[in-house]
Order: sequence, then structure tokens, then C-alpha cells
Amino acid sequence: MSKTPDAFTRLINALKVLPNVGPKSAQRMAYQLLQHNREGAAELAGALQNALNLVHHCSGCNTFCENEQCEICADTGRDSRRLMIVHMPADVASMEAAHCHDGLYFVLMGQVSPAQGMDLNHIALEKLVSRLQNSAVEEIIIATNFTAEGDATAYVLSELFKNLPYKVSRLARGMPLGGELEYVDAGTLAQAVYERRLLKE
Ligand SMILES: [Zn+2]
Repeated sequence: MSKTPDAFTRLINALKVLPNVGPKSAQRMAYQLLQHNREGAAELAGALQNALNLVHHCSGCNTFCENEQCEICADTGRDSRRLMIVHMPADVASMEAAHCHDGLYFVLMGQVSPAQGMDLNHIALEKLVSRLQNSAVEEIIIATNFTAEGDATAYVLSELFKNLPYKVSRLARGMPLGGELEYVDAGTLAQAVYERRLLKE
């Protein structure tokens, strides 16, 4: 029977859930927090617990929010006929900053990776399908990244919409190669939306 780890070891193990954090960095972080920044550590613990209690997925677009719906989905002034599909909440922020889309969004909360066997569990496909049922959506704009993962995700989506009655387009390839939406400037992003390429009428 393995004995329960002491509190310090438990903290190190818990820190390993962070992306790109291995045993060594987790150990350094735990030391730093408990030895040099106990106030920061308390704030981190509180903020994490608070977020766990309050943050969930928007019933409309699947992004993180604290209400039933996010501000964009709740805004009746948006054009509900056009739905833009993105990877992450940060992509919605980039699009909003570029002022080039007045429709609604759907956030996949991930991407499909060819390197990891095209596992569809990383994207919220089922939620997307149920979001589209009985909706006013006429046009779908695929706004995935211009990376191997973004291309794979766009492919999966275009296959999904193949026999469904939507006009489907994807952002124009005016974006830098390997471009992640999050890091593209607003002007380039807006251009890519305006010049989007039609995949299906
Ligand atoms: Zn929403």
C-alpha cells in the first residue's frame, strides 16, 4: 500500500497538471511559492477555486463564461445567420478586435491533430451539431489556424457540413504560413475574413 504523499509532494504532483511542466519545474514552482511568495500562492489557490466554481461553457458558443450565455450570444443585434467556428476563446477576442464579423461564434475549445491520430475528442463536435439544430444559421465560416492542426480541423468540419444545407467558407490564405489567429494583426485578420474562400455554396 502506498502511503499518502506529504503536503509538499502533493503540491508538486498537482502542479504537474500545468502544460509543459515536468517534475523539475513543478518542484521549483512549489519551492518558490511556499518559500518566497505565500501571498501569491494564496491568491492563486483562491482564484483557481473561484474559477472552478463560476466558469462554465456558454450554452450558445461553448466559450468560457459565468452566465448561461456570453455577452456576444446574448446580444440580439448580432447576425444569427452567420456562424464563425474558431479554436479557442482567444480567437473570438482577436476577431472582435478586428471588427470584421458581426455574426455569432462557435468555439471548438481545441483542435484536431494529425500527429495524434486525428482524435476528434479534442473538439466539441457534438455540441456544434446540437447548436446548429433548429438554428437560424445559413453560412458557416471556418476560422481555424493556418497550421497542420488548423488544416486538419477545417477538413473535419468541411466533411461534417458536406451534406448539410449551409454555405461554407474558410478564411483566405492571406495569413502568414503557420499563422495562429491569436497572433495575427487585426488588419490581416479582417482581410482574411473579407476574402474568405467559398468551400460549398
Ligand atoms: Zn456564447
